[in-house]
Amino acid sequence: MQYHTPSSFSEAVTISNSADGLVKYLAGGTDVLVQLKIGNNSPDHLIDIKKIPGVKEIALREDGGWTIGAAVSGVQLTNHKKLSREWPGLVEGMELVGSAQIQSRATLVGNLCNGSPAADSVPGMIAAGATVSVVSSSGTTEVLVEDIPVGPGLTNLGTGEIITAVNLPKRNKHEGDAYLRFIPRTEMDIAVVGCAVNLSLENEVIRSAKVVLGAVGPKVEVATPAAECLLGENLDENILSIFSDKCSELAKPISDKRGSEEFRKEVIGVIAKRAAKKAYDRALGNK
Ligand SMILES: Cc1cc2nc3c(=O)[nH]c(=O)nc-3n(C[C@H](O)[C@H](O)[C@H](O)COP(=O)(O)OP(=O)(O)OC[C@H]3O[C@@H](n4cnc5c(N)ncnc54)[C@H](O)[C@@H]3O)c2cc1C
Repeated sequence: MQYHTPSSFSEAVTISNSADGLVKYLAGGTDVLVQLKIGNNSPDHLIDIKKIPGVKEIALREDGGWTIGAAVSGVQLTNHKKLSREWPGLVEGMELVGSAQIQSRATLVGNLCNGSPAADSVPGMIAAGATVSVVSSSGTTEVLVEDIPVGPGLTNLGTGEIITAVNLPKRNKHEGDAYLRFIPRTEMDIAVVGCAVNLSLENEVIRSAKVVLGAVGPKVEVATPAAECLLGENLDENILSIFSDKCSELAKPISDKRGSEEFRKEVIGVIAKRAAKKAYDRALGNK
């Protein structure tokens, strides 16, 4: 295996395009290094992006949105007070990834590109309407996060396409997000189901909603029909019950050792309902 430490993304793209065999990128390494150690999907070329200037920065853009560098760790997100206040749901998704040790390395971009349907930070990014900046030999494009995963372990990124940053839109008043997951243990486990909800309100009525389900299909899925149940509503128990049933109906999980299909379909409804309540409370200005 060859290890590369480019000092710019254009150098990383050139290395990637001229490499023979499997290429992987090293952000936090909490997926890649485990795969290397067990000899599963080991790369022929490992391109470490951490020496590239700006990759560990969180910046507030002029339009009021955020740009989060590709190697920003979970701990950096948690410690960023303003970002955590504006996007608590997105940050709490990342906070659930692994332990304190994992948090000091793991990144949003690595979580996304690992392609797991149970990735904890991905529903929150999608619910937020986040995009990623993707650089290649033809320049840089902005792609919706929801368009990156295509199936278990698979993304839409081609050879020589590298994510440089995650971009979040401006946060307005009376908006709130939340992410919740179910695991059988208290921590250090993979989501059996997960749900992120992002809401914006006008006079306490829901004007826009995005709902994203994790671990109940081959990839993280946007649940548009569930979000539509919430529009024009105040989120009373009746609406929450309709919403919960819709999320269960939309879920297409597999049965495995961590949960049967029936169990997952039931629990996603419960988790989604709680996430919607939490997002609504936050949008009202309650913590
Ligand atoms: C003990 C342990 C517990 C864990 N617990 C959880 C958990 O609870 N929830 C969860 O979701 N995950 C969990 N994980 C998985 C892992 O920590 C996360 O997926 C993490 O966010 C990966 O980020 P990373 O920066 O370490 O990725 P890396 O390992 O550096 O990379 C992961 C993938 O992303 C690609 N990649 C990296 N950077 C780029 C880039 N800039 N452009 C394009 N592709 C890129 C790599 O090629 C690789 O395929 C756990 C892992 C361990 C070891």
